[in-house]
Amino acid sequence: MLHLAMEAEEVLGRIGELPGRCKSLKYFGERLLAFSRGELPETTQKRLGTMCVQVPEEILHALGATPVRLCDGSYAYDRVGAEFMPAKSCPLTRATMGKLHINQEFWSDKLDGIVIPTTCDQKRKMAENLATMGYPVINLEMPATRDTELAVAYWQESMKRLAVQIQDITGTKLTRRNLKRAIAASGLSSQLFRKLQRFQQLERPRLYGVDMFLVMSCYFIDEQASWQEAVRTLLAECEEYPADRQVGQPNSPRVLFTGSPAIFPNLKTPLLIEESGGIIVGDESCSSSRILYDAVAYDEDQLYDMLPAVADRYLKPCTCPCFTPNDNRSRKIAELLETCRADGLVYKTLSGCLPYELEQRTVSESLPGDRGPLLFVETDYSPEDVGQLATRVEAFLESIQNRRRKRN
Ligand code: SF4
Ligand code: SF4
Repeated sequence: MLHLAMEAEEVLGRIGELPGRCKSLKYFGERLLAFSRGELPETTQKRLGTMCVQVPEEILHALGATPVRLCDGSYAYDRVGAEFMPAKSCPLTRATMGKLHINQEFWSDKLDGIVIPTTCDQKRKMAENLATMGYPVINLEMPATRDTELAVAYWQESMKRLAVQIQDITGTKLTRRNLKRAIAASGLSSQLFRKLQRFQQLERPRLYGVDMFLVMSCYFIDEQASWQEAVRTLLAECEEYPADRQVGQPNSPRVLFTGSPAIFPNLKTPLLIEESGGIIVGDESCSSSRILYDAVAYDEDQLYDMLPAVADRYLKPCTCPCFTPNDNRSRKIAELLETCRADGLVYKTLSGCLPYELEQRTVSESLPGDRGPLLFVETDYSPEDVGQLATRVEAFLESIQNRRRKRN
């Protein structure tokens, strides 16, 4: 785990040099660093690995399981995975496989199961490979579409099956009471996240986009109540932030970020944007804003109503390109460009991530004409393309500035 910790330290060091950051962000960096060294929060509960934001945390918490996200962003583990995974596989799956392969003794000891939704081909094959390696994999079956009655029924059934499988692991039954409590706790996290997001979207933002990625990366590996407490402290600091100051510069280009998940410590593209003078004022990404944007809404606090409501929260608003059709993603991006008052969109795909690459064209064609340019980047976890990427990002930010000058 030494290499992962070194990568984490390097990225946190660079983030720490961005001017004007809130001091209480330190907590999130420290937690992520500790995780990269193999220090997991203490728990007496069963621990379940997760591999996608589609895993319903409310059900895991209700059944007395602690979720920990295993998706990995480290180049060191990517290289380990590359030894036995196809060269065209995405770095996220390669790094995750590499981590679970090289540290198998550690993770087998820590985990009581790994929940993997059947989203893209690579996730599905990863599940198969991990099961062959001896990990206790639970496939969470997902429909390929969201919009039909059949898909909704299939997903609800899948969720019930998941609950039964986890019940068998933890020995706790799903009840009205424990599910209600878990929904409330996740709802609170969602409220806190939305408050933070307001400080990111201000005319004078008080949080960088990479700060939001840090906070949200931490959400997956931290104990929920500790994370909430740390976010409250951060919110208090944001409240007191001097009104005449901001992160970045007053004329910094405002960027919306979308694309394949940016998994810590691989924050290469978002970090280059902000090191080059831009500010990420919002994102459409399942490694930040999509995680807690939507909360569960139910009418009656009975299991027959709450369980479908949990299923809905994961299916209906999800904009993952693994679903088809996926028009609501383009709509969401257009909406975010407006609400965040963004000057342009950066669309990143990881090499080998076809779902995001395939949607790039649809998204770019649907962008409102007055909402600035789009930069499409394809990258991986290696540091080799940083120079070339930085040049493209700088040119993109410059084009935004030129556009502004022409308008004024
Ligand atoms: S991109 Fe889709 S499959 Fe991948 S983690 Fe996000 S929601 Fe899950
Ligand atoms: S959605 Fe893309 S990044 Fe995520 S596992 Fe699939 S191919 Fe990899």
